[in-house]
Amino acid sequence: MKLDVDVLRYLTKDDFRVLTAVEMGMRNHEIVPSELIGRIASLKHGGTYKVLKNLLKHKLVHHDSSKYDGFRLTYLGYDFLAIKTMVNRGVFTAVGRQIGVGKESDIFEVASEDGTVMAMKLHRLGRTSFRAVKSKRDYLRHRSSYNWLYLSRLAALKEFAFMKALEEHGFPVPNAVDSNRHCVVMSLIQGYPLVQVKQLQNPETVFETIIGLVVRLAEHGLIHCDFNEFNIMIDDDEKVTMIDFPQMVSVSHRNAQMYFDRDIECIYKFFGKRFNLSFEERSDDIDNSDVDPDESSRPSFSSIAKTSGFLDKELAASGFTRKDEDEIQKFIEGDVEEDDVSHSEHDSELYQTNIKGFDSLHLDQEEPTASCNEEDQLDENLQSSEADQSGDPEGQNSNNEMFQEEDDEQKGEEDDTELVKSLAKQRRRAMAAARKGHKNTASRNSYKDKGGKSSNNSKIQKQLSSW
Ligand code: ADP
Ligand code: MG
Repeated sequence: MKLDVDVLRYLTKDDFRVLTAVEMGMRNHEIVPSELIGRIASLKHGGTYKVLKNLLKHKLVHHDSSKYDGFRLTYLGYDFLAIKTMVNRGVFTAVGRQIGVGKESDIFEVASEDGTVMAMKLHRLGRTSFRAVKSKRDYLRHRSSYNWLYLSRLAALKEFAFMKALEEHGFPVPNAVDSNRHCVVMSLIQGYPLVQVKQLQNPETVFETIIGLVVRLAEHGLIHCDFNEFNIMIDDDEKVTMIDFPQMVSVSHRNAQMYFDRDIECIYKFFGKRFNLSFEERSDDIDNSDVDPDESSRPSFSSIAKTSGFLDKELAASGFTRKDEDEIQKFIEGDVEEDDVSHSEHDSELYQTNIKGFDSLHLDQEEPTASCNEEDQLDENLQSSEADQSGDPEGQNSNNEMFQEEDDEQKGEEDDTELVKSLAKQRRRAMAAARKGHKNTASRNSYKDKGGKSSNNSKIQKQLSSW
């Protein structure tokens, strides 16, 4: 699958309204019942069914009727929502080629109006095609019952918060530009991951710099936890930049020592092998009384003066809370229930851009809004439909309490627009009604085409109405 941003231009206001409705439904549902989508989106003429078909055709949603008739967002659908928000905020106007495929992310070049090229990282926690790689890490051996959408959003939020805080403390990291949902926009590093570098002018200096970074991070209360040749960028002047922060932990973490030693070991091993550095003669360091002579120069965790909580203020300012940290850490350490939640195969395919250069989005900058009349209409629709709400599917899949807690606070992830507000209102009311256990009656918006093959949407396709 490719990230064909062209499609973005042809999506209508209603398309985004329904896509956003699916996203909202996913706070409580792995698969959002079609009827709930209809109620949240509450399109004037009950056109949700037609819109869903169009979204399905573009692979922005996935249809699932195994337990009941419903949909979920695909990564592509989630990408489009984040990209659209970024474009509307004026962060960038074009998406270019893919520049990186990480274990749990895809990285693209993006360009702003004035031609500044940046990097956009789309987090992909739970990406199935990476299971082989994942199984190397304890935490990812477990299939999580957590929602990938939520986890990817948390990973992006954490990465953005850490990047900003580290930058403020003078660490060589990319400049954190903006973040939304599972997407982080940052400055583009002109260089290569160290793993691709075969020769260095001054390997010792680079080595010292990198080890110095691990030590300085610890002094600031942090351990990178994935500090290796894949997450260190180096430019032609051999300047080092570190990237990739979602797995960082505090020095007060119970396994801090092990993580610290592992980061150090990775660097020693890599420089030993790739650049034939030998470490026996180095004796510039600490704590060499009771270790092997060839290990004597290694920084030891215990001898570093650590200030834990040093960055807490900055992290909190970025909107990343302790609760967020606990949640993501639970996942990272595999401390989550196993579940047989299945992800469809097209989520696991990698994006490959077919775009040479940049694909300008030329999006209407206006965020889709529900007019006052529309809002009234939404309320009316809802009141009349509350009388015949579906009883269940709410609850069947609400395996994730944190989504419910977040219902009202989660504004930060979307733009604070009328659309989001009105959809959130619809959703709350629909949920409240469903909880009351009204009788199940089929909605006129219900998606009935189980085969999911779209046919009748050429009209919508051609419709280039602005949104
Ligand atoms: P993951 O968490 O999936 O490992 P990374 O953040 O490590 O993702 O990024 C994966 C790859 O993308 C990196 O190895 C690098 O090649 C490229 N990359 C990431 N961020 C940037 C950036 N800011 N500038 C240039 N290249 C980047
Ligand atoms: Mg990485």
